[in-house]
Amino acid sequence: VVEFAGVQKHFGDLHVLRDINLSVRQGEVLVICGPSGSGKSTLVRCVNGLEPIGAGRLTVLSRLLNGRFPDLRELRAEVGMVFQHFNLYPHLTVLGNITLAPMKVRGLSRAEAEGKAQALLERVGIPEKAKQHPAQLSGGQRQRVAIARALAMDPKIMLFDEPTSALDPEMIKEVLDVLTDLARDGMTMMVVTHEMGFARRVADRIALLDHGRIVEENDPERFFKTPRDERTKAFLSKIL
Ligand code: ATP
Ligand code: MG
Repeated sequence: VVEFAGVQKHFGDLHVLRDINLSVRQGEVLVICGPSGSGKSTLVRCVNGLEPIGAGRLTVLSRLLNGRFPDLRELRAEVGMVFQHFNLYPHLTVLGNITLAPMKVRGLSRAEAEGKAQALLERVGIPEKAKQHPAQLSGGQRQRVAIARALAMDPKIMLFDEPTSALDPEMIKEVLDVLTDLARDGMTMMVVTHEMGFARRVADRIALLDHGRIVEENDPERFFKTPRDERTKAFLSKIL
């Protein structure tokens, strides 16, 4: 459902994505890791059209995303994204945050949207927080609201960009548990993370980016046991 073929991208003189070839099939979980500045965020942002690609071909849900965009609203309704910093609307309640887009974009009635939001809050384990405002929640709870908000649009693909790296250790697990459940339910996911325990348990494949290039891509077993590239070995020795 996602395919990068020879994708290149520059920011001015900086060559951020170099000849990216990568595909994610329906129901697969791809974990992307790599050093800071290697292009991980840029890579996932291309998938929902937040960044245009330069050369190459990027196909997402049968749409070809070249320099010119197809209907981005439509694409973003199908590709959910969760960032490191949850970006919730501070003036809205949890329920308000989750129901906004489904009502505006999908045309659900308030009652429908709220029913769905409540079910999603149940799913991410915080049904009692519906009436609270983001400021009243812990970081882990906010991130779970952000996930519920993305899921409320019934996305076909979910992108996560370091969803736990702004969280305290005890909150990391509760968010990773939600991601693990999503993966088990068959969601197609691209997850930028340095949580290698999670990657090992949940990923179908792991890709390591270095200076905009994919230097290793393999199933978790081989990725950890028999990394082929020196840069993978160096990266793993730093974070494991
Ligand atoms: P991190 O682990 O720190 O989040 P990353 O792997 O996600 O890093 P990117 O955010 O994709 O890296 O950035 C890749 C490179 O592109 C970096 O050198 C960054 O400074 C640069 N870059 C990112 N966004 C822009 C932009 N909008 N304009 C110019 N340069 C950018
Ligand atoms: Mg990043």
